[in-house]
Amino acid sequence: LFANYQVTEIRTPLFEHYEVIARSVGDTTDIVAKEMYDFYDKGKRHVTLRPEGTAPVVRSYVENKLYGPEFPKPYKVYYCGPMFRYERPQSGRLRQFHQIGVEVLGSENPAVDVETIAMALDFYKKLGLKYFTLVLNSLGDKASRAAHREALLAYLVPIADQMSSDSKARLVKNPLRILDSKAPEDQEIVANAPSILSYLNEESSAYFETVKKMLAVLQIPYVVDATMVRGLDYYNHTIFEIMSNAPGFGGTATTICAGGRYNGLVEELGGPATPSFGFGMGIERVLITLEAENIEIPAPKKIDIYVACANDTAELAVLKLVQSLREQDFSVERDYLRRKLKAQLKTANKQNANYLLVIGETEIAMQAAILKKMTTGEEIPVSFAELTTQAKKILS
Ligand code: ATP
Ligand code: MG
Repeated sequence: LFANYQVTEIRTPLFEHYEVIARSVGDTTDIVAKEMYDFYDKGKRHVTLRPEGTAPVVRSYVENKLYGPEFPKPYKVYYCGPMFRYERPQSGRLRQFHQIGVEVLGSENPAVDVETIAMALDFYKKLGLKYFTLVLNSLGDKASRAAHREALLAYLVPIADQMSSDSKARLVKNPLRILDSKAPEDQEIVANAPSILSYLNEESSAYFETVKKMLAVLQIPYVVDATMVRGLDYYNHTIFEIMSNAPGFGGTATTICAGGRYNGLVEELGGPATPSFGFGMGIERVLITLEAENIEIPAPKKIDIYVACANDTAELAVLKLVQSLREQDFSVERDYLRRKLKAQLKTANKQNANYLLVIGETEIAMQAAILKKMTTGEEIPVSFAELTTQAKKILS
């Protein structure tokens, strides 16, 4: 799927400089304030297990000058791997979890926003999921956020004594963060807060309208949630979440993917101005969503040929045949426990092997055997010579 979008893989270390995460994600966010696995290494460097994928990718982009003329523009990468957050473990919330994410660095075209969102939706469609919703909002540009911040402070300061202690602390440093609070005592305050969408300036508003128009052209349904702010500070303009409302979740929606535009982050980490867009999806949440929608996870590659060993004297012949068939690009299984032939045939059957090949004294004497198609019982006589040189032709 990612190849169809011309997105290539990037791998960053599981450790990251603490500062890279603190400066990108923001030190008033839950991730930085409470959830970091950070420590000092033997060289007294402040490092952390990475809690998310965007900041490390941007750090690498700047450090390795991936904005140079020899790299494609925009620079499109995906990552896949473990992330670490010190959270209270519960269903769909782990301390080591896995994310697949995509980052597109170096374009302010709203088509990037829309195509990247479409890619995430395609991913879930390919897995066979049906019950998910795209939720959209815009945080606007710096000027829009400053205007919104004023309005937010005017609303929040008089009722500060009713807020959670976390939110009181955020009031001075980063009032927008309060809108992302999960504390029960903040919920009513959050619901009645002034909406960012009312404070978008002309440019930001036009950008958001274009994104919505492009989604409509692609017939991608969405809902706008003006209270959504996302748990990371680096976003501006378009932000989105994909929520699953699989019947198996019993009415509560679960966020399976989240992302948005981050136009200032590359500069913030010392690179050139690079408008960018990305998302991260939680793999464990996808797995429980597949379960909630009753979708079976496809089995790994099927066994093409099961080679059964009728007795000890056939051991070396089996060894040679199995290796030769694997080299000819077949997926081959055999017995290693010296079990009776009957038990081996049972295993071949249970594991849905496509063909069965039994090797015993007779076969060795004849230097030939019978390939049996398990589903139909069809039997194909083959010589060892044919099997080791042209198995592909015989089985095609
Ligand atoms: P939440 O509001 O659920 O805490 P978040 O805003 O912290 O999510 P992001 O940082 O945007 O989440 O991460 C993107 C996705 O990664 C989430 O939508 C979710 O699917 C997954 N995710 C985040 N934290 C965890 C976790 N602790 N365990 C498992 N999956 C997670
Ligand atoms: Mg979180």
